[in-house]
Amino acid sequence: MKGALNGAVVRVRGSHRLAPPSSALRGRVVVAAVACGAFAAAAAGQTLNSAGATDSDAAVTPLANATDASAAFGLGGAATGGAPELLPASHLSDPSAEAQKLADSEQVTQAREKREAAARKAAEEAAKPKTCLPAKGTFTSGFGARWGTSHLGVDIANSIGTPIYAAAAGTVIEAGPASGFGLWVRIQHDDGTVTVYGHMNSFSVRAGQKVGCGDQIAEIGNRGQSTGPHLHFEVWQNGTKKINPLPWLSARGINLT
Ligand SMILES: [Zn+2]
Repeated sequence: MKGALNGAVVRVRGSHRLAPPSSALRGRVVVAAVACGAFAAAAAGQTLNSAGATDSDAAVTPLANATDASAAFGLGGAATGGAPELLPASHLSDPSAEAQKLADSEQVTQAREKREAAARKAAEEAAKPKTCLPAKGTFTSGFGARWGTSHLGVDIANSIGTPIYAAAAGTVIEAGPASGFGLWVRIQHDDGTVTVYGHMNSFSVRAGQKVGCGDQIAEIGNRGQSTGPHLHFEVWQNGTKKINPLPWLSARGINLT
């Protein structure tokens, strides 16, 4: 391999400037320079000249391999062993190809950052409290004044036995009889909100039980002060203040109407 290149021996003498390197040699300098992170300098040919100034009378033999290039031009790395791992020169002889590789590597980095950002977003979404429809049916009554009194929840009418679901993950704090509600289930959620489910025909959870969003907790009934089978659903902000469930639900992507 070396023998084939002997005709191209370059002698570097004092401050004499070198003849422009052959394109093959330039390619190899690029190889070495890229390995050392000095791509721009190598492209301008400066690396070759400075090597000549400091290495007077040194015979610079044609570079049989990229490791020699590193050593001869003071670009770091020992002549044998310990040199940076270099890709085969045949793949690196075209500076524009090198630029393309850098661009490709930049694209790989950008793609990775994009993936990481997407993963972060997914994790944030997963951490957000999820909300679920408490029961399928017809929205029949809203929150507020009704029949000379206050209706502190919303009504969803459906046939007896229709499943009632936890509106969000949480802990059941009460399940049993309650005045006016017939039976009720109350669930406390992570942010302190309590959701209340009333008039059910039966329930299938007990106090202290953890439930997930959408888990069935009961069945629609007509118990207590009720004029027909429906779920009466309330939202107690901070566990105390009864608020309109409609905007609470719709802000969480659940629309009853
Ligand atoms: Zn109601």
